[in-house]
Amino acid sequence: MLKIAYDPIYAHPLPEGHRFPMLKYELIPAQLLHEGVIKADNLFSPNLVSEDIILKTHEPGYWNQLRDLTLPVKEQRRIGFPLSARLVEREVRIAKGTIDGCMFAFDHRIAFNVAGGTHHAGSNWGEGFCMLNDQAIAANYLLDSNLAKSILIIDLDVHQGNGTAQIFENEPRVFTFSMHGANNFPSRKEKSDLDIPLPDGVEDDVFLGVLKNTLPQLIKQQKPDFIFYLAGVDVLKTDKLGKLALSKEACKARDKFVFEQCIANKIPVQVSMGGGYSPQIKDIVDAHCNTFKTAADLYF
Ligand SMILES: [Zn+2]
Repeated sequence: MLKIAYDPIYAHPLPEGHRFPMLKYELIPAQLLHEGVIKADNLFSPNLVSEDIILKTHEPGYWNQLRDLTLPVKEQRRIGFPLSARLVEREVRIAKGTIDGCMFAFDHRIAFNVAGGTHHAGSNWGEGFCMLNDQAIAANYLLDSNLAKSILIIDLDVHQGNGTAQIFENEPRVFTFSMHGANNFPSRKEKSDLDIPLPDGVEDDVFLGVLKNTLPQLIKQQKPDFIFYLAGVDVLKTDKLGKLALSKEACKARDKFVFEQCIANKIPVQVSMGGGYSPQIKDIVDAHCNTFKTAADLYF
């Protein structure tokens, strides 16, 4: 059964003047329900992740300032929206949704989080709409609980997974792979175990070609027993922040290829959404829904 973490707090509105698209988080499950791709019992509402689990990934100084809403204004600006108790709770809940998703993935081969993919958050900083790094928190949880020994993080969001790269830079049990626009945010990149920076304007064939030439080999070499997939749809040509030029079809083919590799190698996968900033919200929601539909078709 396809299990999907979602809670109404995911779409908690930002203060006036902030144009980050929170709306997509309620539109994605609504659209999937409307089309009959999922039923209400596919969705589960995650609880709050405990502090001791957060502190395996994030430094206490940073987490305490986040929790107590005392993060300096300059560091709040780096996140991109002002701190509030609800927005912090939202991130804490999303992180638990990703951990729970891992547990479901062990049973059902795959599970989703409607949000997450907050890959710009490093061990002691938040950045680019990310405060806590959900997949990093979940990866550390799997390692600490002896549920996984070798983890591969496949980050195909258009932006580099700089926070994830930094968190695991000295952790040989987690292999970080990021394929992203070379000239995109963040301007100062960290070093993933494998970075593939792409030039501006890359289209469907080149993107899919690079992925197909890389991922099977990577899985063969690393032999992961768990995979995290960050399926950002800011790779679309319509995206106003990304600089690549993928069609919706190619974005769907990308997801399909990743899932086929997970299936062929019998590796459970947890999927978080990541970015999507097309001017038409329909483009964002369609592309994210395609990721769910592709999984539903292949797995269930
Ligand atoms: Zn992104």
